[in-house]
Amino acid sequence: MRYLIIGDIHGNLAAFEAVLQDVEAKGEFDEIWCLGDIVGYGPEPRGCIELLRRYKHTSIAGNHDWAAIGRIDISDFNPDAAMACRWTANQLTAEDTNYLQNLPLTLERDDFTLVHGSPRQPIWEYLLSVNRAHANFNYFDTSFCFVGHSHIPLVFGQDKVGTCFETRIFDELRLSLESNRLIINPGSVGQPRDGDPRASYAIYNSSAQIIRHYRVDYDVASTQKKMMEHGLPLSLVFRLNYGR
Ligand code: ZN
Repeated sequence: MRYLIIGDIHGNLAAFEAVLQDVEAKGEFDEIWCLGDIVGYGPEPRGCIELLRRYKHTSIAGNHDWAAIGRIDISDFNPDAAMACRWTANQLTAEDTNYLQNLPLTLERDDFTLVHGSPRQPIWEYLLSVNRAHANFNYFDTSFCFVGHSHIPLVFGQDKVGTCFETRIFDELRLSLESNRLIINPGSVGQPRDGDPRASYAIYNSSAQIIRHYRVDYDVASTQKKMMEHGLPLSLVFRLNYGR
């Protein structure tokens, strides 16, 4: 089975479509595993939910998904994120809201746990340091865990004696050769923050036991144009140029 692993689409339909095109050009895939934040920031929240739902998929909830349906307080959001969140909430239909409402916080598939932020705090915690990763290896039972939320592709590992390590760049992980437990972030489809503006995703091939990480160009300008038409904050528009 081939699984498309995506997260943090953030209402950026052009980026999501580019990822799907890129994956389909590489061959068939069986299912999407989505790591949350389908909506928030971007100009097409409904289009992203609808496109995801056309595929066989499983998804967990992210903080922006919950914020858009009023399930968490946005007073912790910065003013631009809060504005985008209120705009997003106004776009959603009752069916979209119902879909987001029913997303779980964590899922286990095969030997993977799926969470948005971290196993310890599925909605809120950013996993960006070895110290935090180290603590989080105690909060899931599977060998591997996919996370999103930071929008930065990276891998944390824990070896047999409990020592943790981090690698920011990964093209390919051969799980069959790994004796380590891993926490893997495939990066963000719709708002990358690692300095590379291209959409980021991974493919997990379960029979080969390989995870590959990919980047793909998309039409950034078309997303930006729609954001400006909707009056979304310029800081959110411009950061797409830089992947920051
Ligand atoms: Zn996000």
